[in-house]
Amino acid sequence: MKRALVCGAGGFIGGHLAKRLKKEGYWIRGVDIKEHEFSYSHVDEFLLLDLRKPENCIKALRISDGPFDEVYQLAADMGGMGFISFAECEVLYNNALINLHMTHYSATMGIPLYFFSSSVCIYRDMKLGEPELSENDAYPANPHNEYGWEKLYSERVALAYSRRYGMKVRIGRFQNCYGPEGTWRAGREKAPAAICRKVAEAENNSTIEVWGDGTAVRSYIYVDDLIEAVLLLIHSGLEGPINIGSPEYFSVKELVNIVAEIAGKRIGIKWIEGPVGVQSRNFSNIRINSLGWRPKVSFKEGIRKTYEWIEEQVRKNRSERFPQ
Ligand code: NAD
Repeated sequence: MKRALVCGAGGFIGGHLAKRLKKEGYWIRGVDIKEHEFSYSHVDEFLLLDLRKPENCIKALRISDGPFDEVYQLAADMGGMGFISFAECEVLYNNALINLHMTHYSATMGIPLYFFSSSVCIYRDMKLGEPELSENDAYPANPHNEYGWEKLYSERVALAYSRRYGMKVRIGRFQNCYGPEGTWRAGREKAPAAICRKVAEAENNSTIEVWGDGTAVRSYIYVDDLIEAVLLLIHSGLEGPINIGSPEYFSVKELVNIVAEIAGKRIGIKWIEGPVGVQSRNFSNIRINSLGWRPKVSFKEGIRKTYEWIEEQVRKNRSERFPQ
């Protein structure tokens, strides 16, 4: 039986990844600074550890009968644009510490295969209609925010340790990921979850506030599709960072309209000032597609599943606050 360590297993993607690996027959140790809010028994063993500390990285990695077969490093202090732009020092400090220590101890403790979750935030801001960027176009580097700079630095750390210690490293640059069991409130949620929550909380024929002017363009990837790509990538011969995303692009205005349609509500939008992030993204998925991977879940279908889950959380939350 293969054994895998999933760092960030108390979070959204790490939680889904651990569940999937268990289904594939792996023995899983999950590690996080907090427990998972929605999934229980998605790992065989769970350790509450702060991975900014070197001694905790060693604890996470130490296991009897040889090293883990695979390490998935998804732990990060992160959130949507609001959080990333407000907490830039925390993002730089905490994530660099986690990644430096996890990479260093994984390599020096003999881990054969290491996955690092990077982000398309390592790319520069783009104008609408610009031709797509491939992985090498990350340089000359000009990420839009400090979260992206840290990811770019940590990619380089992982690649340097791979060269020195022979640890195989696979790096996925994730597009915006969404789905059930993700952060949906309290300031760290990303755009799809934030819009789903606002629409779920809104009355029919009311207005919600949304940052920007609605023209910023993004593509989104449903969590099951992303995990499929991660598993293909880690077991492939593809070296260097690899983009993982969908070729479908939507403006923020389209996102709100899709959510409102799924909710069956007429929703007005009041555009307000806020940290929108980049204007546009357009990057190539040729390398991940070369493994035969394509996203299977359409945006509407994925948003429907996400909306239904968030609507249920909103309802539960209301009945906890106002019991009958
Ligand atoms: P998440 O916040 O749900 O999960 C990250 C987990 O890391 C959290 O559970 C958090 O508690 C944990 N963590 C934070 N600090 C820690 C510490 N000091 N020690 C141990 N654990 C710690 O985020 P997610 O959406 O599941 O993202 C997973 C990874 O994918 C992250 O590295 C993120 O940067 C990357 N990523 C995500 C997206 C996305 O759209 N969700 C896009 C690009 C990249």
